[in-house]
Amino acid sequence: MFVLERTYDLDELVRHNMHTHSVFSLCAKPEMTLEAMIRRAEEKGLKTLAVTDHSDPGDDIDTYANFLFYKEKLRSIETPVRVLIGAELSAYGVGRYGEPYEVDKALDFASYSHVHYHLDSWEHPEDRSPRGYAAHELAVLDALFATSRADNIAHPFSPAKMHFFSEDEKNAVLASITDNELGDIMLRGERAGASWEIHTPTFLRFTDFSKRFFNIGREVGVHFVVGTDAHRLDALAPEGLAERLRAAAAGKRIV
Ligand SMILES: [Zn+2]
Ligand SMILES: [Zn+2]
Repeated sequence: MFVLERTYDLDELVRHNMHTHSVFSLCAKPEMTLEAMIRRAEEKGLKTLAVTDHSDPGDDIDTYANFLFYKEKLRSIETPVRVLIGAELSAYGVGRYGEPYEVDKALDFASYSHVHYHLDSWEHPEDRSPRGYAAHELAVLDALFATSRADNIAHPFSPAKMHFFSEDEKNAVLASITDNELGDIMLRGERAGASWEIHTPTFLRFTDFSKRFFNIGREVGVHFVVGTDAHRLDALAPEGLAERLRAAAAGKRIV
């Protein structure tokens, strides 16, 4: 289900960081304790903070136990920030999910990754061309939207983790998705109650695609959220983010 109202105002969207990693993600800095994240979010005027620690098949992380631990901890932290305890869950193949349905439904925010191709557990397409990967992504999302699992799609279509591809090939994956395919799958996500993340590292990097993603999403009428994929406190609410996202949404790349 949608956790934020639908808007295309980037100044508003950046006030809700819907993709952050705490110390329960091995890749996050030790400073990313729940309390420190909340305090920084307050200082920066964030309205919503979604904690989305990794939950991948084969990891040793107990997503449900961590969720209960944080929910308990939240009872002793007073804050005006709306804190959602979610997870970055995995749709690691067509119809393949890392957590049982009941765990997914217990979370405040079930954000699904479909592109962690760098992990051993991830399913790859038979056709290993850029188009083969794009088609695989669409099939994984299509299957996911036939369930009611996803509240959000984390870094949608990001080719960043396709380390076997050159930068040109990564762009070719994105370019091989037609406008019609993009519109259809985004509408399908909307109907399934899933928002689409404007994942800032991806959005600012692959701007030809960002422009299509943002405009087509708006035409179709999807819900967007913004996430910075913060692994350190400084990345929770970067200065000038809305402006840079606006430029990227117009297809401009600002380094
Ligand atoms: Zn991820
Ligand atoms: Zn992440």
